[in-house]
Amino acid sequence: MSPAPTPEILAAFEAAKGFMPVDEGLALYAAARTAGRLGLPLLEIGTYCGRSTLLLADAARASGVTALTVDHHRGSEEQQPGWDYHDPETVDPELGVMDTLPAFRRTLRRAGLEDHVVALVGQSPRIARLWATPLGLVFIDGGHTDEHATGDYEGWGPWVAPGGLLVIHDVFPDPVDEFTGQAPYRVYLRALESGAFREDSATGSLRVLRRVEG
Ligand code: SAH
Ligand code: MG
Repeated sequence: MSPAPTPEILAAFEAAKGFMPVDEGLALYAAARTAGRLGLPLLEIGTYCGRSTLLLADAARASGVTALTVDHHRGSEEQQPGWDYHDPETVDPELGVMDTLPAFRRTLRRAGLEDHVVALVGQSPRIARLWATPLGLVFIDGGHTDEHATGDYEGWGPWVAPGGLLVIHDVFPDPVDEFTGQAPYRVYLRALESGAFREDSATGSLRVLRRVEG
């Protein structure tokens, strides 16, 4: 059986705001435990309110590594006021712009996982340009435009260590299923076509790829 998060963490995951169903969360957790064996950090792009971060953090704790999570916390295109995925509770009342950082910090604190996570607040490509550390797992769940999804793949993909995992969310091969577009699907195809990654598993719209060992 694949490793599963504790019932407390699973309950916190289900209670957290966000965009990941339980079956995909369990697959992400299992991937993070597998990747944790490499002893390298696990990195997520797309923190939002910390729903998926909880699972990476719990897996990082179990593996003795650190989880990193990247987000500017100002929301993706489809999460802005007036759009389908907008949640008015994520708006900073003083500035009138989205700010998911406070909700994220509450999520982590309540679950007792603050010590296992480093939050990187800023634009993913900017942070990636400064990066220089191999990663056990990269989880791409940020912006869904081609510009953002491609930027995340190009910026972070190279840091997946040999034997490490590249996990991509919102992969919709069938355009009928698409609600946030097919950019993550195109990135998934590109990763496979590069020859650097092979598919390990698929759960819902979550794809787990493994870097081929040189
Ligand atoms: N993983 C979350 C959902 C992430 S939603 C969950 O499980 O619920 C996507 C997030 O990506 C949003 O919070 C948005 O602010 C962030 N984002 C989009 N484009 C980004 C970019 N270029 N740099 C940093 N964060 C970005
Ligand atoms: Mg997603």
